[in-house]
Amino acid sequence: MKPSHKKIDQTLRILLKEQGTSTMLSRLSKKYKPFKVLISTILSARAKDEVTEIISKNLLKKYPTPQKLANAKKSDVINIIRKIGFYNNKSKNIINASKLLIKEFKGKVPDTLEELIKLPGVGRKVANCVLVYSFKKDAIPVDTHVHRISNRLGWVKTKTPEDTERALEKLVPKKHWQILNDTFVSHGKTICAPISPFCSKCLINKLCAKKGVKNHR
Ligand code: SF4
Repeated sequence: MKPSHKKIDQTLRILLKEQGTSTMLSRLSKKYKPFKVLISTILSARAKDEVTEIISKNLLKKYPTPQKLANAKKSDVINIIRKIGFYNNKSKNIINASKLLIKEFKGKVPDTLEELIKLPGVGRKVANCVLVYSFKKDAIPVDTHVHRISNRLGWVKTKTPEDTERALEKLVPKKHWQILNDTFVSHGKTICAPISPFCSKCLINKLCAKKGVKNHR
């Protein structure tokens, strides 16, 4: 059975109170303009936030604008982002994304999903992150944490992040969209771990269906 809006409100209110807004993107969006948030988000795929944050800072200090990054040598970019996984593809994508920003968008990061996903290295998750964190638009970025927790809570029953995004859009009132990624990512990193979640310490324990959870602490 789908959760009521009351239950969704209650769950998100508890998580927000427990963790506040504490993800890397939440921190970066307070000091970075959309271009820097976009590049940091592309770099963050399958990388630890602590590593991404330092590397993004170093990279964007040297290449703070689309113009500078578009003209960078790939080997120089690789030298800076080498500690991040998939650095070869990521360096190519961020240089080419910068070139396309200049060619098609007058050097400005667009603020629609349709335009953002035209950029190399930008899928729905990255695009939705930029919409939420930089432009404060209603969108639901679904990463591995959001996908896992939404299913465990029993809010959705989905196999892929794309399906989860669609299901959550139908289920969750729009007023919550902008905080959903931040609260679930924080919760997934601290309590609702992929393997053996800390259900005994979880403040939303009573609201959770624990679907698919076999071992928990
Ligand atoms: S009760 Fe367990 S499975 Fe449910 S959200 Fe909390 S930690 Fe995750």
